Amino acid sequence: MIRTDRLTDTFISLTAIDCPSFGERAMADRLTTELNKLGLCVEEDDAGIKTNGTAGNLFAVLPGTVDGEPLLFSGHMDTVQPAMHKKAQKHSDGTITSDGTTVLGADDAAGLAAILEALTSIKDDALPHRTLEILFTIAEEPYARGSEAFDYSKVKSHEAYVLDLAGTVGRAAYAAPTICSFTFEIFGKSSHAGFAPEEGVHAIAVAAQAISQLKMGRVDDETTLNIGTIEGGSATNIVPDHCIVKGEIRSYTHATVERVLESLVSKFNSTAASYGATCQMNSHFGCRAYEIPRQHPVILRYEEACANTGVSMQLCKTFGGSDVNQFEQHGITGLVIANAMFGAHSCKEYTSVADLKKVAEITQQLMTSKTKHFEED
Ligand SMILES: [Zn+2]
Repeated sequence: MIRTDRLTDTFISLTAIDCPSFGERAMADRLTTELNKLGLCVEEDDAGIKTNGTAGNLFAVLPGTVDGEPLLFSGHMDTVQPAMHKKAQKHSDGTITSDGTTVLGADDAAGLAAILEALTSIKDDALPHRTLEILFTIAEEPYARGSEAFDYSKVKSHEAYVLDLAGTVGRAAYAAPTICSFTFEIFGKSSHAGFAPEEGVHAIAVAAQAISQLKMGRVDDETTLNIGTIEGGSATNIVPDHCIVKGEIRSYTHATVERVLESLVSKFNSTAASYGATCQMNSHFGCRAYEIPRQHPVILRYEEACANTGVSMQLCKTFGGSDVNQFEQHGITGLVIANAMFGAHSCKEYTSVADLKKVAEITQQLMTSKTKHFEED
């Protein structure tokens, strides 16, 4: 049985751990201990070394007691800032907040706590379950860097539930965008701005002119473009020879992102050439767009688990990335499901005991689901 007191204690103690992106060591140690107590062997990968972090992704398997396709359950260990010295406050109405100076860390400790509680309950009551794979990732917040570095050959599951979606319990994101971050580096020529301005090639002017030709913001119904930072120059009396422009493109259609990126490259290149400057572009596709069909087993199973918990499923699209974007590239169809976090990425973030309980119950329902959806026929 899901025990609300135990779940709440686990949640609050997890939020007390400092676990910024690339600094998840203490959280990884605690989760390893908890999984070991439940009889699971935990493997930590080398993603921490690859990304200059303090810990790797944690992967654990609980062999099934009944037949059925294995399922992967996942949450991320890192939190956005400000998140050092978090102090969760439990209020008389059952809500849990931070003390107002940091985020609460329900993103994603609420997901981690729900997975641990569901596993504990299954063990306590010896509930039959299929093979369960658990993946706790590092560095999800900076464009899913941990799950990007994970070795998916270990994973047997073709379907996953990622507990990492804000909003009403029962929500699930079945579609997400491609997100591409890019950097344009412009190389001009410096000269004295007063004595010989005509000898310089003005890198900032190149950037300004290229940017002024872009359609910033909403490019179409499902695509956005943003230039987020620009830096260049070294002194007020020097024609700047260097400028760096950084931005991102996101769209539900991967090909659109590629097309917008190509048009940026051509605008920056032609503008640079017209000034006698050169230009270099680097891009990083942190997430790749996907959309899960409505009748897919991963959705049908979730719908049933919600119904069994007295919650109605609400499908939505997200315009943010998550670890699922990485899973999709390795043949794992993942649903991002609501995990009782509200106001995430702000100091007003909160959760509630009742919502935490519902998420743990839904998670346990998913883990113990006996219904055979078409993939198992
Ligand atoms: Zn998250």
